[in-house]
Amino acid sequence: MGKIKILPEGIVAKIAAGEVIERPSSVVKELVENSLDAGARMISVSVRNGGKSLIKVVDNGEGMNREDAENALLRYATSKIGSLEDMSRVKTLGFRGEALTSISAVARFTIATRDAGNSVGTEIRVEGGKIETAGDCERPVGTTVEVRDLFFNLPVRRKFLKAERMEYAEIVDVVNRLSIAYSRTAFRLYRDGTLALDYPPCLELKDRMYQICPPEWREAFIPLSIEDGFWQIHGFVGKPEITRNSRSGQFFFVNQRPVKILSFSFALQHSFDGTLPQGRYPVAVLFLQIAPENVDINVHPHKREVRILNEGMIQSLMIKKIKEVLRTEGSPPLLRLSERYEKASMADMPDQLSLPQAIFHERSEVRGSVPVTLYQLSGRDTLPVVAEESPDSFWRSNGRGGVDTPAALEKLRLGKVFGQLKGSYILMEVDDGLMVIDQHAAHERIIYEEILHSFSNGSSPSQALLIPLLIHFDGRESAVLEEYLPLLSKVGFGINELGNNSFSIDARPSFLKTEEVSETLRDFAQSAGEGKAKGPLVETHEKIARMIACKSRSIKAKEELTYEEIKELIQRLIRAKQPFTCPHGRPALIKLTTRELEAKFLRT
Ligand code: ADP
Ligand code: MG
Repeated sequence: MGKIKILPEGIVAKIAAGEVIERPSSVVKELVENSLDAGARMISVSVRNGGKSLIKVVDNGEGMNREDAENALLRYATSKIGSLEDMSRVKTLGFRGEALTSISAVARFTIATRDAGNSVGTEIRVEGGKIETAGDCERPVGTTVEVRDLFFNLPVRRKFLKAERMEYAEIVDVVNRLSIAYSRTAFRLYRDGTLALDYPPCLELKDRMYQICPPEWREAFIPLSIEDGFWQIHGFVGKPEITRNSRSGQFFFVNQRPVKILSFSFALQHSFDGTLPQGRYPVAVLFLQIAPENVDINVHPHKREVRILNEGMIQSLMIKKIKEVLRTEGSPPLLRLSERYEKASMADMPDQLSLPQAIFHERSEVRGSVPVTLYQLSGRDTLPVVAEESPDSFWRSNGRGGVDTPAALEKLRLGKVFGQLKGSYILMEVDDGLMVIDQHAAHERIIYEEILHSFSNGSSPSQALLIPLLIHFDGRESAVLEEYLPLLSKVGFGINELGNNSFSIDARPSFLKTEEVSETLRDFAQSAGEGKAKGPLVETHEKIARMIACKSRSIKAKEELTYEEIKELIQRLIRAKQPFTCPHGRPALIKLTTRELEAKFLRT
């Protein structure tokens, strides 16, 4: 007899389940997606012990009749596609017909459901893939799925689950992503019996974002929309002052399906280059609408990753457009004085959008005062009483009216200058408050942009040196310098090779003082040698500009400036495309609004 055996169905089911169901959050994802596919207007998720002991999803979708409920538990049983062609135009979140089978193979599973055509519902209990009981039940139209003791029959998988808090955080992330995609649906999440998230239905994406994000972010969302015949992108990018230490604040959707798209993350990173501190990631919510046949969603068992036709083209248009909106809609970070803001300052904000419950609790107080557009619900839209927790307060927060208009765009312009503080900061009056400019950071930004400009438009103003400088480098430095000679000459350096690693410098960029030239070049040769500027030409240009700008210390911190010098600095800053940060992403200006002052002086 040969060595090869066909595995029995029970094992096959468990192996297959392992692909779809990795952890509690995968169960939540599959169940909530099913509810959304069933047209639910309200979805309630309850979890206990990070979903390890219980996950329960209740919806008011279309439900199922007896026959469908039984069939739904079979592998590759789906109501969503019937042919291969269907798969290329699929509009639902699910279509593989695997989720319910997989979940019921690795947990204690109950489904209770009723459709509008029947007055009694069906309840089926499955344990480890085996139907235990099936019968009638009384319930409203809709579906409840209860999943207990996940992986009770896969001890190894269970052992590898993370701590309750971590699994819960993943669940929050899943619920948040789906609730952004379906902002017209109401979502609730209960954690160990306590209401943790409560998102009433919204008319607009923006309002759902307000429900989810910290209140200070509201003024930091810049709307984005890109159209290109075959596809459209719409959504928001967060201004550079709201960033995260991971990509957890990036929400991408392809045809309303939450997905990870690396090329979009790269596009964001690149668009924000020079406005973000190291290790920070932009925040964004981006919806790509594209003909379904141009997307392959079947790449990944969780459908978390997708392939998109012409992804490169989409990416480069994104970069162009995001840079543009950052330039026109950017504004300086605000200096917050009042308690209200101090409490919820970014420093205290945990760095995951997948936040533990406590934070949502704290925030929900603030949320209560955020005006959002809400649907007025008809009587039909109530959640079935089968919810673990009483649903009567589901619409507590309903009925708030009015939408806040986003803060008007701010334009930087020269106002009344009060002078300089500690030889480092310039104080200037602006329309609605006081602008504090970090002269060093501002100057770095100016030089950076002037260098970039000189790369794309010939060269920058250069000053001949009366007596040429002679500089000797080591072998590596001079090799680097040689390589960058053409670019350095565009910046305004006149550099001649004398051989033997020696160079004579007979001209300098006008933004550098003569005595700073040799140190700047030496530093440049060193840092350019280390972090060898690779990648596309634009990126190389940006890196070089950043290095030189950083080294140019014409205006040092702690340097007294005359009124004329201050004025010139501000005027040059106004011409910058992105005046609000230095090229390393630190703020160059901060604004203290009159409103904040008034609040602090208790005048409001
Ligand atoms: P898929 O979503 O890929 O079709 P599933 O195993 O997740 O596969 O679900 C199987 C079928 O069960 C679905 O196609 C749908 O017809 C039905 N179903 C599952 N969940 C629900 C629900 N909450 N409400 C109504 N029908 C559901
Ligand atoms: Mg499904």
